[in-house]
Parts: sequence; C-alpha cells; structure tokens
Amino acid sequence: MTTSNGRRRAVVATCPTCRETLLVGPDADTCALTGKAEARDLTTTGRLLAVCDRRTVYCVDAQVRLFRLDHWQLGRPWPRVVAEHRCSAPIPSAWCVPAAPPARPVEQVAW
Ligand SMILES: [Zn+2]
Repeated sequence: MTTSNGRRRAVVATCPTCRETLLVGPDADTCALTGKAEARDLTTTGRLLAVCDRRTVYCVDAQVRLFRLDHWQLGRPWPRVVAEHRCSAPIPSAWCVPAAPPARPVEQVAW
C-alpha cells in the first residue's frame, strides 16, 4: 500500500483557503494520489453532473477510504460518493443529498 501520509483512511479536514469541510486521503490502495473531496454526499444526478463538470468523483467505503471512480463505474449502487473540491467552484447544493433533519427529542410520557 502506498499512501502519502502512511494511512489509507481519509480524514476530515478544513480547506485552508475557503474553510470548506473536506475528506482528504489516498485515492487508491496502490499508486495513490491525495484525494481532496467535499464531505457532502452526491445524489445520483449530482454524480453525473460532477463528472460533466470534469470533477474527480470518489466512492467512500465503510472504513472511510476514498476510491477514485471512472464514469463507467457510476451506475453501481455505491453507498456514498463525493466529488473533488475546488475552492473557486463549490459544489452546488442541488447536487448533494439533503442533510438529515435533526433528531427529534424523545417524548417523555407521564405514567
Ligand atoms: Zn477550498
């Protein structure tokens, strides 16, 4: 395994330029480059639009490892896909999976 930081798992980081939350880590098990992706998951349409925008897209597995995807791999049911970060062109919110609503507090019932 070849990694730039000795770890295969991506870490959450903040872009020093635009302060966006990123996933940063090696993008493959061997011969990896450092992937820098926005930490927001893409919808199926957002994945295609990201590729049309010439962004690199990554699958994120359960161990939070980034895997670079090619356009012919987008049709698979990946659990989580993120796109390359560009400071000057943030990913539109319409491409992203909406954030989950905050959990409602458990109602307490008097007995
Ligand atoms: Zn940035």
